[in-house]
Amino acid sequence: MSEERQGTTRDQDITRAELMSRPTPLEPAPRLARAIGLEPEDLWVKRDDLIGLGGGGNKVRKLEWTAGAARSEGATTLVTSGAAQSNHARLTAAAGARLGMDVVLVLAGAPTEGMTGNIALDGLFGARVVWAGEVSEAELAAAVQDVARDLRERGARPAVIPFGGSSALGALGYVAAGAELLVQDPDLATAVVAVGSGGTMAGLVHALGAERVLGVHCGAVADPEHTVGHLVEGLAGQPAATPLRLRLDQVGPGYSALTEPVMDAMTTAARTEGMVLDPIYTGRALAGLIAAVHDGQVRPGQRTVFVHTGGLPGLFGHPETLERARSAVADTAVRWSRG
Ligand SMILES: *Cc1c(COP(=O)(O)O)cnc(C)c1O
Repeated sequence: MSEERQGTTRDQDITRAELMSRPTPLEPAPRLARAIGLEPEDLWVKRDDLIGLGGGGNKVRKLEWTAGAARSEGATTLVTSGAAQSNHARLTAAAGARLGMDVVLVLAGAPTEGMTGNIALDGLFGARVVWAGEVSEAELAAAVQDVARDLRERGARPAVIPFGGSSALGALGYVAAGAELLVQDPDLATAVVAVGSGGTMAGLVHALGAERVLGVHCGAVADPEHTVGHLVEGLAGQPAATPLRLRLDQVGPGYSALTEPVMDAMTTAARTEGMVLDPIYTGRALAGLIAAVHDGQVRPGQRTVFVHTGGLPGLFGHPETLERARSAVADTAVRWSRG
């Protein structure tokens, strides 16, 4: 495992762990572009879902910094939290395996029978799961502190990775991703990205400027404008001068709900480009882009990059989406019979 002494935040050297190959591909999506009302050459996809570690996704770029810092400070155990189907928790488990560290995941909810998707992978990567029950954001954070204290008392050296990996330190991963993207596409007008805990959008805003990033709120935090704004300020050392571009119209009944615009977006991406989106994040991001083209916020003739942040395992942990996808097969299937 190679590591690099890297740039600094606030004058301190931080060791970034090397957890991925870069750059990730930037691929054209002409058939999807046409299907959503753009010109074929307008739309490109930044494939952060193809990051190799642990099934891939945006959280790896943040973990390079947060888990890297934990390791360089001598931590033995990574502790983090999330929803039951948290991609961040799954990738923290994978990062711990890669770095030779123990991982404890404090997850909202309780164990259910069909524990699939991300939870199955958490187990495969050897993480220990603590189920926190039906808890508020504050209660989940308190549970994490309890678990860390308990680990310390037993002689471990725990490091707490923030919810979603989103601190100013974690967001450095997307500052670098924004720079990477500008090399691949200097003419970029708009990068469209799902907003969960906010670090991904914040890093991109720092690298590309607020006017070039369109964030689509997914319902993971109560006040995305405040959450992302706070992280942008943490990166820059001062509040952003330009307002954030955020769409709040794709949450529907709530974070874990599947909406019709999201199901449409997932189907369209799958059937035009063979590209899989997930119902919680990337499906909402594409539904937000479709809505943005519809109301003129994103226009044909300008270069748009859809940031594919991963999430495929979450699709297999979302029974309603699986049922809808399966029923599409059932509707068209025929049984072969010998002539
Ligand atoms: C976490 C996540 C996001 C959102 O990233 P944040 O930095 O938390 O805002 C987007 N897509 C997927 C697949 C994710 O797992």
